[in-house]
Amino acid sequence: MPIRTAAQYLDGLRDDRHIQIDGERITDVTADRRFRLAAETMAGLLAMQHDTKLAPQLTYTSPSSGDAVGMTHLQPKSKDDLVARNDAIKIWMDETCGMLGRSPDYKNVMWSAYAAAANIFDRDSFKGADNVRNYHEYVRENDLVMTHVLVNPQVDRSKPAHLQESDITAHITKETDAGIVINGARMVATLCALADEIVVMPAAVRWQGTETIDTTDYSFGFAIPTATPGLKFVCRPSFADMHSSQVLDYPFSARYDESDGLAIFEDVFVPWEKVFIHRDPEFDGEVTAAGQIYPHMVMQSVVRAASKAEFMMALTFALARTTKIDQHNPVQLLLAETMGIAEFCRTCRIAAEAEAFETEHGIYSPGTRSLQVWQSMFWKMYVRQCEIITTLGAGGLVAAPSMAELAGEMKDSVETYFQSVNADAKSRTMLLRLAYDAALSGFSGRQKLYEQYYLGDPNRTQSMWYRSYNVDDHIERIWTMLDDLEKRYG
Ligand SMILES: Cc1cc2nc3c(=O)[nH]c(=O)nc-3n(C[C@H](O)[C@H](O)[C@H](O)COP(=O)(O)OP(=O)(O)OC[C@H]3O[C@@H](n4cnc5c(N)ncnc54)[C@H](O)[C@@H]3O)c2cc1C
Repeated sequence: MPIRTAAQYLDGLRDDRHIQIDGERITDVTADRRFRLAAETMAGLLAMQHDTKLAPQLTYTSPSSGDAVGMTHLQPKSKDDLVARNDAIKIWMDETCGMLGRSPDYKNVMWSAYAAAANIFDRDSFKGADNVRNYHEYVRENDLVMTHVLVNPQVDRSKPAHLQESDITAHITKETDAGIVINGARMVATLCALADEIVVMPAAVRWQGTETIDTTDYSFGFAIPTATPGLKFVCRPSFADMHSSQVLDYPFSARYDESDGLAIFEDVFVPWEKVFIHRDPEFDGEVTAAGQIYPHMVMQSVVRAASKAEFMMALTFALARTTKIDQHNPVQLLLAETMGIAEFCRTCRIAAEAEAFETEHGIYSPGTRSLQVWQSMFWKMYVRQCEIITTLGAGGLVAAPSMAELAGEMKDSVETYFQSVNADAKSRTMLLRLAYDAALSGFSGRQKLYEQYYLGDPNRTQSMWYRSYNVDDHIERIWTMLDDLEKRYG
């Protein structure tokens, strides 16, 4: 099947998946008030692939079927390929203001990198290479939307899972000629309600030297449909739980809440052909680095962040213009700061593309330096962009009424008293509601937490970067300079 239409994607979600929220099991996520609009947003992204103007950028010709398939599955064979893939990501991300972390491109670029490095999965304990390659082809040719769970649940972070008193953490409980059986839990399954497939792989980021390797029961990598029997997702409460008349009051909460859930495996059967890693704890810690996966994940993130930061900048400009505060120098200082953040993301993308290189796996990887810089800075910069919006929106953000007031019994007063020098009451109220949702709402708080953690705990990732940096050369430079100063003036 080539690229899917919106209707085909939505139809695919009407299966037996077990989605639990607010104490109830959802029978049809596409009809439920908490998931419906986000499902339509995702469907809209897939539909864009059929737009005749966008198709040349969002699709390419499948090497196996000759059909049009999603561009973000492309395994870049040149810098131009990498740029083309990033352009496709940017088109999708501009459409959703960078607010969907688990849009299909995120996992697509990741799995295309795993498939390019598939040989590393042929291990003594298990030969997974063909399964990894076949899975890449399977999701590409069927235009499937994936999510993943990499992290063990937060039970006792002072010891590895197999030394803990409970057996809450997902582990292998049985093996047959046909496959393995998994019991226990993993977190966090963002998009679980709206993904077709879930990939379960080892955590990409670990505490160096402090974590004892788990026993082999906890070592596996596989992928299964989200509707697999025994697989259950318990979701947090939704930000989208509102009447449709309130969508303009919470435009992001209503349409872009991709949902997060705990994945619970109850006797979940995984056939061997969908297993990638089996009882190989040493490999768990190496697979992400050996496959050179991280640069692709972070590259997608940088492009997404560029869309997000540009949107936040645009929103800040619009807000400041409505009451003409943009004429004041201190306000311009803040506007320039948010501009700097947007330009930072754009520049990191350009640098990563410029430094792209061919890896031993035969594909082009983005240059890692600017990606690491971006990863260490953006999550804090994003909080700052929200802060600039709340600083400049100030009391207006909480004075803004719901859009219903513009049609209510005080309509005339609202139209008079909520206008500003550069906007009528309706435009200004819509803008303030959007700014509230982007920078101050529960949805916005979750976005900040997402940016901080979804690529792994920054405490870990940043200390990994520090440890891999050529720190000694820089220290040497200081001592050389001091020696020189001492010789000349001491
Ligand atoms: C919004 C959101 C969406 C997410 N979506 C996904 C997803 O789709 N798929 C997925 O796999 N994961 C997802 N994650 C999970 C994410 O990967 C983890 O949050 C991240 O790896 C950190 O792990 P943790 O949350 O278990 O924190 P913990 O490991 O429990 O750490 C909590 C705090 O304790 C500190 N800490 C823990 N251990 C130590 C130690 N040994 N020494 C010093 N300090 C320590 C940490 O630095 C941190 O500040 C998501 C997270 C968020 C917030």
